[in-house]
Amino acid sequence: MDESYCETPATELPTGPETVDSGPPYAECVLCRKPTEYPESVKGITLCPVCEWQEAQRTACSG
Ligand SMILES: [Zn+2]
Repeated sequence: MDESYCETPATELPTGPETVDSGPPYAECVLCRKPTEYPESVKGITLCPVCEWQEAQRTACSG
């Protein structure tokens, strides 16, 4: 057993320019209008990962 493989290198996530390459049209976030991970065919409210996380935080804090 070589446990050294369990260590994760401390590398920061690359933050490049947010460009949407050719692909399926994504629905835009209803809050910040950024492209979400959901296709436009999805019904209802669509949130980008950021807003989705924030909403989850708010829900978790309530009560
Ligand atoms: Zn958003």
